[in-house]
Amino acid sequence: MTEIEKEEVRLRLQHHYSEVLSLLGENPEREGLLKTPLRVAKAMQFLTKGYNEDPEAILRSAMFEEDYQQMVIVKDIDFFSMCEHHMLPFFGKAHVGYIPNRHITGLSKLPRVVDVFARRLQVQERLTTQIKECIQKTLDPLGVIVVIEAQHMCMQMRGVEKQNSLTTTSDFTGAFEESTTREEFLNLIGRRR
Ligand SMILES: [Zn+2]
Repeated sequence: MTEIEKEEVRLRLQHHYSEVLSLLGENPEREGLLKTPLRVAKAMQFLTKGYNEDPEAILRSAMFEEDYQQMVIVKDIDFFSMCEHHMLPFFGKAHVGYIPNRHITGLSKLPRVVDVFARRLQVQERLTTQIKECIQKTLDPLGVIVVIEAQHMCMQMRGVEKQNSLTTTSDFTGAFEESTTREEFLNLIGRRR
């Protein structure tokens, strides 16, 4: 998306958020709210910027040939996403592991891939699977595993109001289908099952 297109979208979002404020019983003309529609529009564009980014290209931008065939783990990757059902935040930590098959990627690229998928409207299950598939498809490793632990504001602020519940999802391929390999990963990230 070009800067001009982004600006046009922002103006339209701004207009709609002003309407939303009125519908919620607020006065969008009062001082404290004057710039709120613009701020919300910008915030929402930032929080969904992953739609305009290509996670496979990010991995490929730092792909190296390497004989290393042991587990590579990046754990405790902080992420912030928004659930597609309520457009409320869910956030937590992602743990990613893979076993290279001739190709490795720059370690900083894995958190960036998590970020690209998190900056879209999501459900935790799909976020987990998309990260896994992106790594599997791009690096073609012997196996990849993704574990995500998150708190959902749509659960904590409304409805069932389970304040401290943590939702865990995981998905894996190849070598991680072996339970001993999975256990090694869980041990290394400090989570025993
Ligand atoms: Zn939700």
